[in-house]
Amino acid sequence: MSEELQEGGAEVETARERDHLDRHWRKLARCVHESVNFFFSSSEEDVALGLCQRCAVRTECLAYALDERIEHGVFGGTTARWRRKLLVRRSHVASWHQLLAAAKDQYLNNIDEAHQVAK
Ligand code: SF4
Repeated sequence: MSEELQEGGAEVETARERDHLDRHWRKLARCVHESVNFFFSSSEEDVALGLCQRCAVRTECLAYALDERIEHGVFGGTTARWRRKLLVRRSHVASWHQLLAAAKDQYLNNIDEAHQVAK
């Protein structure tokens, strides 16, 4: 795994790194040493959402919460209410993990292509 990924960067450079990230994303979570109270308290929801904004594994965390139908707390930069609405609207999605991983990879590929064009 690259230094960048270990230090919280969002880049995923190879399929091997993607596989590693899929299995070990929790170790890279920005909240790993934070109190869980932030994430399950409506009065501190904004604090939790702020942490998520700067988290390198937000996509993986959100996919986990959606696939596991977690109905409480902040995960992946979203509230439980937001996720419930999304699950109703997109009830046909079989695997959020696959959908969001593909979207993230496409996004990163587009950035790479844009950098190539800019050179
Ligand atoms: S996205 Fe938020 S809840 Fe998920 S691992 Fe990162 S900081 Fe924690």
